[in-house]
Amino acid sequence: MSAAPKPPVIVWFRQDLRLADNPALGRAVQSGKPVVPVYILDDHTPGPWAPGGASRWWLHHSLAALSGALGDLGCPLILRRGRADVALHALVRETGAEAVVWNRCYEPHAIARDSALKADLKAEGVAVDSFNAALLAEPWTVKTGTGGPYKVFTPFWKAVREGLDPGLPEPAPRHLAALPTPPDSDRLEDWGLLPTRPDWAGGLRDSWTPGEAGARQRLEDFLVQAVARYPEGRDYPAQPLTSHLSPHLHHGEISPRQIWAAARTHGTAPRGAQGGMDGVDSFLRELGWREFCHHLLYHFPFLPERPLNPKFEAFAWDDNAGHLAAWQRGLTGYPIVDAGMRELWATGWMHNRVRMVVGSFLVKHLLLPWTAGQAWFWDTLVDANLANNAAGWQWIAGCGADAAPYFRVFNPVLQGEKFDARGDYVRRWVPELARLPDRVLHQPWTADPITLRAAGVRLGHDYPYPVVEHKAARQRALDTFAAIRDDND
Ligand SMILES: Cc1cc2nc3c(=O)[nH]c(=O)nc-3n(C[C@H](O)[C@H](O)[C@H](O)COP(=O)(O)OP(=O)(O)OC[C@H]3O[C@@H](n4cnc5c(N)ncnc54)[C@H](O)[C@@H]3O)c2cc1C
Repeated sequence: MSAAPKPPVIVWFRQDLRLADNPALGRAVQSGKPVVPVYILDDHTPGPWAPGGASRWWLHHSLAALSGALGDLGCPLILRRGRADVALHALVRETGAEAVVWNRCYEPHAIARDSALKADLKAEGVAVDSFNAALLAEPWTVKTGTGGPYKVFTPFWKAVREGLDPGLPEPAPRHLAALPTPPDSDRLEDWGLLPTRPDWAGGLRDSWTPGEAGARQRLEDFLVQAVARYPEGRDYPAQPLTSHLSPHLHHGEISPRQIWAAARTHGTAPRGAQGGMDGVDSFLRELGWREFCHHLLYHFPFLPERPLNPKFEAFAWDDNAGHLAAWQRGLTGYPIVDAGMRELWATGWMHNRVRMVVGSFLVKHLLLPWTAGQAWFWDTLVDANLANNAAGWQWIAGCGADAAPYFRVFNPVLQGEKFDARGDYVRRWVPELARLPDRVLHQPWTADPITLRAAGVRLGHDYPYPVVEHKAARQRALDTFAAIRDDND
């Protein structure tokens, strides 16, 4: 007679879609009990912050990759849909699990759900453990001298870096014990995560390889090909000198600890072969911004909805739907802005420098609310992340932590001329302007009729005139932003 199987441990996957350096999975393996890995598609708990269209595309492929990797270890991924608390309770009952483990998420809605769930499961006699798998330093561990949260990046990062030792990442398990009969699972194909517009998905597919193996490859390529030139090169959108790790990080296909360890090993390898620590330090500082954004969201959970600086609550934003649509479609008449918005639509990603330019254009030139930009990014970015997106938009609008001052209005022509001097970025994403000479490429409305004709551009027909005139829009922004400052000072 064979012995009854041990009660399993449920591993609840969320934003940690990987096998390596996954502490919750590691704990389940250590227990020596059968493992039930589950992913629950919970569109209820996040409310308006359920994943947007591009993130859902990513999620589909990332889950397919995770499911394949778990299947190879003989332990199928169980898919369930609905309220996570309800679905998890049901799975505990069905499997007789006596323990549930997960890695922590930091969105306010996730924290509220997970705390309640932990208390309920424990009250029912189920052991629950959660782990840090997503951050170098969890938000409550970093405090100012007076014990409060940081609102300025540089001292925050100094405090995090002092004595930081993330340790070595854990390898992926080589074997998982499974239940003899796995619980029922949904079929991924039935979840409808893929966009109904196939032309959109095509651009995403050409740009990315979601999943743990894709993430590892991106990191390796970046370290070998780009990190040494990162400090000078990271501001130039036509050059592939940033890591493109953001969607992999958001979905937890790679951990910051893995990145930290690989980058430092790379940077300390013999100089010449690898390029030294300058590029590595500058790159790791950007991971620091990710940490800072999560710190802000944890301590100021209203970040995606309300300005951190309360003076901005009364700000007189415009509501011009035509302007918003022109911005979304990349038809503002400012080539660098339009190139960025089209890159976003085509690939689900946009270069950081250009995110700042298009963001400034929306909130300053068009005076449209930062929340409208945040919402569009949420739907179209494959790396849409509540902390980074909200903090990025508040920074741009001047109402966030360590924010850009209100009088900084990026000039889209100068930004284009400085960061895309040869026009490679604009020519790629705004091909109707490709034949214009460099001197007018970033301001086609200044080109004379002969130049326009020679380049095959009919303004107002092939490409729009600017939706607003820069000088007037800048002055309107300065007046409006100064008014709230004066009203409240
Ligand atoms: C308005 C606005 C909205 C943004 N929305 C998001 C978002 O939803 N999701 C997101 O991941 N990033 C967001 N960012 C930050 C940044 O633009 C992206 O993280 C970066 O462009 C991703 O490209 P990369 O992986 O090649 O970055 P790299 O330059 O290679 O940087 C490495 C990693 O550091 C982190 N990082 C880099 N810059 C920042 C930053 N400014 N803030 C926070 N983390 C950073 C990212 O995780 C990134 O993958 C936003 C920035 C702005 C200005």
